[in-house]
Amino acid sequence: MTIDFTKREQDLLHIVAQSAESLHIEAFAVGGFVRDKLLKRNCKDIDIVCVGSGIELAKKVAETIQPKPHVAYFKNFGTAQIRLDDIELEFVGARKESYRRDSRKPIVEDGTIEDDQNRRDFTINALAIHLSAKKFGTLVDPFNGLDDLKNGIIRTPLNPSITFDDDPLRMLRAIRFATQLNFKIETNTFNAIEPLSNRLKIISQERITDELNKIILSKKPSIGFKLLFNAKLLHVFFPEMVKLHGVAVQDNYGHKDNFYHTLKVLDNLSEKSNDLWLRWAAILHDIAKPATQRFEEGHGWTFHGHEVVGARWVPKIFSRFKLPLDDKMKFVQKMVALHLRPISLTKENITDSAIRRIIFDADDDLESLLLLCEADITSKNEAKVKRYKENLKLVLQRIKEVEERDHIRNWQPPISGDLIMSTFNITPSKPVGIIKDAIKDAILDGQIKNEFDAAYQLMLKKGMELGLSTTNKSTHE
Ligand code: ATP
Ligand code: MG
Repeated sequence: MTIDFTKREQDLLHIVAQSAESLHIEAFAVGGFVRDKLLKRNCKDIDIVCVGSGIELAKKVAETIQPKPHVAYFKNFGTAQIRLDDIELEFVGARKESYRRDSRKPIVEDGTIEDDQNRRDFTINALAIHLSAKKFGTLVDPFNGLDDLKNGIIRTPLNPSITFDDDPLRMLRAIRFATQLNFKIETNTFNAIEPLSNRLKIISQERITDELNKIILSKKPSIGFKLLFNAKLLHVFFPEMVKLHGVAVQDNYGHKDNFYHTLKVLDNLSEKSNDLWLRWAAILHDIAKPATQRFEEGHGWTFHGHEVVGARWVPKIFSRFKLPLDDKMKFVQKMVALHLRPISLTKENITDSAIRRIIFDADDDLESLLLLCEADITSKNEAKVKRYKENLKLVLQRIKEVEERDHIRNWQPPISGDLIMSTFNITPSKPVGIIKDAIKDAILDGQIKNEFDAAYQLMLKKGMELGLSTTNKSTHE
C-alpha cells in the first residue's frame, strides 16, 4: 500500500513540517487522513498531531499560508482547526488520556506520539506519518494497522473492553467503519460490545444520530444495522426497529420477518438513491407493522393501517433522534403514509381517478415514492418479484399518460378558499374546507371538468346543501 499525496496535500504538509521544525517540535499526519490516503478514499480533512502544542503549531502554519486563514482553537481540548476552501487542517498535541466512568470526557495530559496512538480507537485509525525533514513519509505503525487495513479488519489497539468502556461512542464508530469500508470487526473487538451496550446511554443523541446517518448513507446500510442488532446496540436507541425482528406463526400461517425485509428495502433503495431522507423513509415504512399486526382466522396475518400509524410515529421518532422536524420530516411522513398506494393500484383495475389521486397526493415527491415502492418489492419468489415489478411499470406508464392529459402535478383547484369565503360571506371555518375538498374530489374523480365554471357551479350547490347563502343574495334582500 502506498500513499499518493496530491500536490495540494504535499504543499500543506510541507508547510506543517517547516512550521513544526521552527518550533522545534515533531509533527505527524495521523488518523482518518492516513487511513483514507492508504485506502485511496477521498478525504476532506488532514489530521495533524504534534509532540507539543497543537494550537501553537496551527498558529504558525496559518502565518505561512496566503491569505492568512483564521485559526479556530479550543483551549480546553488543546485542538485547533484551519478551514481552507478545499480542505481542513485539524491539529492536536500528542496526549495521554485517562477516563472516568460517568463521562466520555477524559482527563488529558501531554504525552508522546506512542501515548497518542494508544488513545486512538482502531488500529487503522492509529497510523501516523513522520513529517520532519529527515523522516518525511515514514510510517509509524505500532499496532500493525497497515495489515488490518490490507485485510479489512476493525480492531482496537488495546483491550477492546477498556477502549469501549472509556468512550462508548467507539462501539458505534466500529460498526460505522465496518459498514462504510465493508470491513470485518475482529471477533474479540466485536464480542466486547454487547456487554457494554448500555454504556451508550452516556452518549448524546446527536452523536449517536451522526454515526447512524453515516451508516445509513453507506453503500450497503444493512451491514451496519445487522451489526447494531447483533451487538444489541440497536436495542438501546431504536427499540421500534428491533420489534420488527422475528416471525409469528399461527395455524401454519407465518409472515415475512419485517426487520430483514426493511433492510432489504433499504439496500435496494440505496442502489438507486443517495437521499438520506428517502433512506429514512425506507427504514420507517413498515415501522408500525408490529403494532398493527392481527391474526385473521383462515386468512393469516394482517397489518391494516400500519402506514397510517407509522406516519403518525415519524415526528416522535425524529424528535427523539434529534433529526430536523421541518419539511424533511414531513417528506418522510408522506412517504410512509403513501408507500402502499402505487402497489395497491396494481392489484385492481386501475381507474384514472385512482391515478389522478396518487399524482395529486404525492405531488413533487412522486419519483421518490415510486423508488421506494420499487425497493419495497422483496420476495424469495423470483416470479412474484418479476410480476410486481411489471405491474409497477404499468402503473408508471398510466401515471405518465394521465399526467400528460390532466396536468395534476402542482395543480391548484380552480376555486380558492378566498372566493368561497367572499361568495358566502363567511370567515375561515369548516365549510370552506368541505367545499374545497368536494371540488377537488369531483375533479380528481372526473365528475366535473378541471375548469372554473363547473367548479363554481359545484361550489354553489355544496354551499346550498350546507345551508349557506351567497352574499349577492343577501345584498339584494
Ligand atoms: P471520518 O472523518 O470519516 O468521520 P475519522 O476516522 O477521520 O473518520 P474523525 O472523527 O475525523 O474520524 O477523527 C480523526 C481521528 O481521531 C480518528 O481517525 C481517530 O484516530 C481519532 N478519533 C476520533 N474519534 C475518536 C474516539 N472517539 N476515540 C478515539 N479516537 C478517536
Ligand atoms: Mg476525519
